[in-house]
Amino acid sequence: MAVLEILVYPDERLKQVATPVENFDRELRDFVADLEDTMRSGPACVGLAATQVGNPLRIAIVDVSIKPRIRSHGRILLINPEITAWEGHIVGREGCMSVPDYTGNVIRAESITLETFDLSGEKKLYRLEGFEARAVQHEIDHLDGMLFLDRLVSRRNDLFRRKNYK
Ligand SMILES: [Zn+2]
Repeated sequence: MAVLEILVYPDERLKQVATPVENFDRELRDFVADLEDTMRSGPACVGLAATQVGNPLRIAIVDVSIKPRIRSHGRILLINPEITAWEGHIVGREGCMSVPDYTGNVIRAESITLETFDLSGEKKLYRLEGFEARAVQHEIDHLDGMLFLDRLVSRRNDLFRRKNYK
């Protein structure tokens, strides 16, 4: 188990499109444990993608349960995740460990259906809404080489400098 180094914008590796996981083996389990340690080490961090630590595989973790007053499924492991249904649109503020100095307003689907795989390669289905659905969409963007910065309607109106990461 280890805390990994998080790549920070404009690191080119954040633009890599991640490739699907094929081997559900010990190496995958070890990496997911390290990714989770790294996520838990961040202040108020609710998600982290493998591309953010320089691993180009389609793996991420989301856990919004540390936020108060939010319904959640606890820790959701994303391995080869696919969103199969989208509903509604809503604007919300997002931050990112790879963009430590800014937050931004981003439009996301309000609720989604997610297909993903667990560590043993079994398919899992989730119906997600609100902030949890937003966090999953944010992480899957990372696996497609995108940051929330790429989704701002206007950098002038929707990007905000922050004093402290929290
Ligand atoms: Zn992020």
